[in-house]
Amino acid sequence: MAYDIVVLGGGSGGYACALRAAELGKTVALIEKDKIGGTCLHRGCIPTKALLHSAEVADETRESETFGVKARFEGIDVPGVHAFKDKIVTRAWKGVQGLLKGAGVTIVEGEGRLVGERAIQVGSEVYEGRAVVLATGSAPRSLPGLEIDGERVITSEHTLTMDHVPSSVVVLGGGVIGVELASVYRSFGAEVTIVEALPHLLPTEEESSSKLLERAFRRRGIKYELGVFFESAKTTDTGVVVTLANGKTLDAEILLVAVGRGAVSSGMGFEEAGIAIERGAVVVDEHCQTSVPGVYAIGDLIPTLQLAHAGFAEGIMVAEHIAGLNPPPIDYAGVPRITYSDPEVASVGITSAQAAERGLEIVEQVYDLAGNPKSQILGTAGAVKVIAQKDGPVVGVHMVGRRIGELVTEGQLIYNWEALPAEVAQLIHAHPTQSEAVGEAMLALAGKPLHVHN
Ligand SMILES: Cc1cc2nc3c(=O)[nH]c(=O)nc-3n(C[C@H](O)[C@H](O)[C@H](O)COP(=O)(O)OP(=O)(O)OC[C@H]3O[C@@H](n4cnc5c(N)ncnc54)[C@H](O)[C@@H]3O)c2cc1C
Repeated sequence: MAYDIVVLGGGSGGYACALRAAELGKTVALIEKDKIGGTCLHRGCIPTKALLHSAEVADETRESETFGVKARFEGIDVPGVHAFKDKIVTRAWKGVQGLLKGAGVTIVEGEGRLVGERAIQVGSEVYEGRAVVLATGSAPRSLPGLEIDGERVITSEHTLTMDHVPSSVVVLGGGVIGVELASVYRSFGAEVTIVEALPHLLPTEEESSSKLLERAFRRRGIKYELGVFFESAKTTDTGVVVTLANGKTLDAEILLVAVGRGAVSSGMGFEEAGIAIERGAVVVDEHCQTSVPGVYAIGDLIPTLQLAHAGFAEGIMVAEHIAGLNPPPIDYAGVPRITYSDPEVASVGITSAQAAERGLEIVEQVYDLAGNPKSQILGTAGAVKVIAQKDGPVVGVHMVGRRIGELVTEGQLIYNWEALPAEVAQLIHAHPTQSEAVGEAMLALAGKPLHVHN
């Protein structure tokens, strides 16, 4: 069977590519061995954000007296939490399948394998494309000698079906997934300790954001061991004993391994077709074309940001490139990043350390959420930090605070439009909103601070 485009993998990257290609009048086959929507919809973004919302409701119930509301927190109804999460996932799953069918995309159910340069075999059928897009995603990684048994030693995927709240959890890895799930478990009532080999939680974020998160987690009773390597884990009848490289041991009911995700690139004929792969990830050019002309790769399979919206953007760009529209390459610094813990951490653009590496002369402004009434109503601490080039545009926006993630959209427009602080300072922010913190930082950078305490 011949198509203009054959897409292997129906996750965020693959289905976005299929939809955009169909919009552009291409015939598209989308091959998926499990469920359309992939990791993000079924095992990642959406279910974990539903858990985080349940976690927020639990915390607000506990804190209800602060707001003058009488409510009693009686506990977490785990089946109820899963039912809420599953309802959201199922609705979105139906929605995306409907979109693809409506657009005329042929959905092929089954496991595909690249056979020849531009052909994918599923069972006895071969689907040939004038272009092929590989979008097989990623899977959780572990550490050498650390076996995931799904009971005592688990990954993020097991948390989505766990039938109870564990009394205690050691989270191995202080990146985005580890931090989000640590936040959920703490809100659900578990004792939580995060182990991170680098000196800070969320080590790729602006250092001041990591420090604010650490302070907030300390206040919430989330413990962490930073700058220390994991040595070993031993399961017992009641739990797991984790030994760190400094000799310290941690006892917990479960060990959640969140040390990153590796690209799913082996056993599907990629290497045999001559596709260059480095450290498991498929190598691509700025338009996501692999070393084999006409074969593209997108999403978590390539070494760019492992984010659903980065995958959407890559899928759209590839569809447009194949259709000859000459889309611009993606500026990955301009892709917004959010960690949806309590508090949230959000950023776009570069950090001050990256600015220094690039030799940029910068100015910075930190606006403390203590001066922002809406943040005080929400009961959150945190800050908005803006980094601008001296006499130039904003190059980074970094934020910490409850519900602050939604504000990254403004930061994203500011960064991607290369706005000057003085230009943004002209724009009026609604009062009282958390977005005023962005406005206040810009006013201060433009030399006319309003509510800034020094
Ligand atoms: C716990 C967790 C939370 C996350 N939260 C967020 C978040 O809040 N925001 C965010 O932006 N990102 C988040 N992510 C990351 C996001 O889920 C991924 O970046 C995104 O799913 C990658 O999309 P993809 O299309 O590259 O791969 P995937 O979504 O992994 O899809 C790949 C698809 O390919 C299929 N496939 C693989 N091999 C074959 C084959 N041989 N034949 C047929 N089909 C095949 C798989 O079944 C799968 O459906 C999270 C991830 C996790 C694990």
